[in-house]
Amino acid sequence: MSQPLLRRVILAAADSQDVARLVHRYGPKLGAFRFVAGTTLEETVPVVLALNRQGLLVTLDRLGEGEVDHSTADGAKAAYLAILDKIKEAGLSSHVSLKLTQLGLDLDPKAAEGRLVEIVGRAEATGSFVRIDMEDSRHTEATVELFSHLRPAHPAVGIVIQSYLRRSEADMRKMAELGANVRVVKGAYLEAEPIAFADKAEVDRNYQRLVEMHLGAGCFTAVATHDPALIDSTVAYVKSHGIGRDRFEFQMLFGIRPDLQRQLVAEGWQVRVYVPFGPDWYPYFMRRLAERPANLAFFLKNLWAR
Ligand SMILES: Cc1cc2nc3c(=O)[nH]c(=O)nc-3n(C[C@H](O)[C@H](O)[C@H](O)COP(=O)(O)OP(=O)(O)OC[C@H]3O[C@@H](n4cnc5c(N)ncnc54)[C@H](O)[C@@H]3O)c2cc1C
Repeated sequence: MSQPLLRRVILAAADSQDVARLVHRYGPKLGAFRFVAGTTLEETVPVVLALNRQGLLVTLDRLGEGEVDHSTADGAKAAYLAILDKIKEAGLSSHVSLKLTQLGLDLDPKAAEGRLVEIVGRAEATGSFVRIDMEDSRHTEATVELFSHLRPAHPAVGIVIQSYLRRSEADMRKMAELGANVRVVKGAYLEAEPIAFADKAEVDRNYQRLVEMHLGAGCFTAVATHDPALIDSTVAYVKSHGIGRDRFEFQMLFGIRPDLQRQLVAEGWQVRVYVPFGPDWYPYFMRRLAERPANLAFFLKNLWAR
């Protein structure tokens, strides 16, 4: 089966109740915690400290997707306020990453914005930073709009732009006008061809274009990829354009290419690891499996050997 087809199959299977039950039951024993740092903040703090000791910066993501009501959205807000307090108290070199749907974007965008403002306010008070992750394309416009509204008064908030979406070049131009701190990613969701590039080579070309546009505009850029070719092209670009090491950082996911993370730190580049934790680890884990058949093979081998 081709890799794009396998990715679609895994992402579609992730919605099945049976698959969810199976993976919830056996996932922790079968390697899910290669990608997730723990189910609680307390379990996660030592993981962050260990990464910090290796010279790696962190962004903490509290996993929580799916059904949201006002009370779960308030709960997510409270959890993020507690994470920011813990970052300060424990002296962690860490920011936070969050999803607007967790804060109730689909329910009431104004209320979600209100919750986000409180979280960003706490980040400002504690010297931290809040990254708004980008979700599937049903939320792109609302996310860009909310961010554009908030950013002028709140520099401690950043956004994510996905290179698989055709609209992203135009979004990136808006972000440069705002002087926004942008994380560039390829994109992790299933998107239809009219709005997204289907060809991997085009996604990669667009990735490089977006990174160079934003660095060239003098804006802080988080280059979030494990793709060695794109990391090399970024290094070549910053060297040839005299862009300082403090103007960008590489970002990678917890548990993916830790060797490359350490190598980049040893070469003197800033590297931030995205560390997810929490009881709702299932959708995140399934997206990581979908990205790489080798991870699926590892998981199935363990399932078989159980
Ligand atoms: C810090 C960070 C934050 C992100 N935030 C978002 C977000 O907000 N919204 C969003 O849609 N997506 C997000 N993503 C996910 C992103 O969109 C991609 O799905 C993911 O990064 C895989 O793409 P890649 O750039 O690594 O390149 P790929 O072309 O997928 O992979 C390049 C190489 O990286 C390695 N690799 C990639 N994935 C894996 C894996 N799962 N296991 C082992 N090796 C792997 C392999 O060697 C592979 O050949 C984020 C990714 C990172 C690193």
